[in-house]
Amino acid sequence: MPLTYLTHRIHTVHLREPFRISRGTQTIAQPVIVTLTADGLTGIGEAAPSSFYGETTATVLATLEHFGAQFSYTLGDIQSLHNDLNNALRLNPAAKSAVMSAAYDLFGKSVGQPLYRLLGLDPQRTPLTSFTIGIAEPEEMARKAGEAQLYPILKVKVGTDDDIARLTAIRHARPEAIIRVDANGAWTPRQAITMIERLQPFDIQFVEQPVAAHDIAGLAWVRDHAPLPIFADESCVTALDVPRVTSAVDGIVVKLAKTGGILGALEQITAARLAGKQTMLGCMIETSVGITAAAHLSPLVDYADLDGNLLILDDPFTGVTVKEGKLILPEKPGLGITPRDSEVG
Ligand SMILES: [Mg+2]
Repeated sequence: MPLTYLTHRIHTVHLREPFRISRGTQTIAQPVIVTLTADGLTGIGEAAPSSFYGETTATVLATLEHFGAQFSYTLGDIQSLHNDLNNALRLNPAAKSAVMSAAYDLFGKSVGQPLYRLLGLDPQRTPLTSFTIGIAEPEEMARKAGEAQLYPILKVKVGTDDDIARLTAIRHARPEAIIRVDANGAWTPRQAITMIERLQPFDIQFVEQPVAAHDIAGLAWVRDHAPLPIFADESCVTALDVPRVTSAVDGIVVKLAKTGGILGALEQITAARLAGKQTMLGCMIETSVGITAAAHLSPLVDYADLDGNLLILDDPFTGVTVKEGKLILPEKPGLGITPRDSEVG
């Protein structure tokens, strides 16, 4: 039975605090929420575009209009939908991800099963998620780290003029926390080695994207010389990128908004596993729709960094929750999303 686009709607959401990484600061996000309908059921998905990967809210809307004009899809034939989206238009992964999540949500509702069960995954096996501390003054980062006591794992954004002062303050506030760092490509390879050697005494679990996305040779050089494990995020966008970073990293960060959605993420996780790499599911600043979709895949990965919704003040949805860091998947059919304005009480 053909599905119909019901709506694609822009939501403007506000961050609890300005979120700064090495290449910029964000105070709001404008995700696009897509809905598909069939048999009186509605599936929901989120596009969280990142300009770093060439997407904006405007390109998502244009992409969805393009898809919508030729859209046909048989309930449950998600593989064909994945192929059709990729044949219709190259790239635009966040827009595709929204459609794919909505299709999975709808299919799950039609058969009365949560997404993790459709995928054959054990909800008990979700990892802990990290909580991200964006760049700010050292005492400000330490305050945020202290306030995040419920999260045993912190991900600290680095790539500033004085990362050591920041890590010193954060370690003082949270001596027991597991700490990962993410430079978002801020360093040259030589700077990366210097910085990673100076960060090592702070008991860092691993380093995400130390050098620029395109610099795979630099990434490999850093991995060869660094005393800590190295993960690729911006350098490894889809499954097709895994072979070229295999000798350059220890782990790969998988995001729905990079891979074009749930099937693309499963492909990248599988490719990374086959290459002997560790895997982490990451996210953009996303509402509970996007974060919950990714969380359903999280029993497959070693680590999770699925906190984008926690950084939003006015998330219009609820879905996955977090208990002492552990991702708790909703048991309702599909993604298990509830609009906040429909909640009673
Ligand atoms: Mg990252």
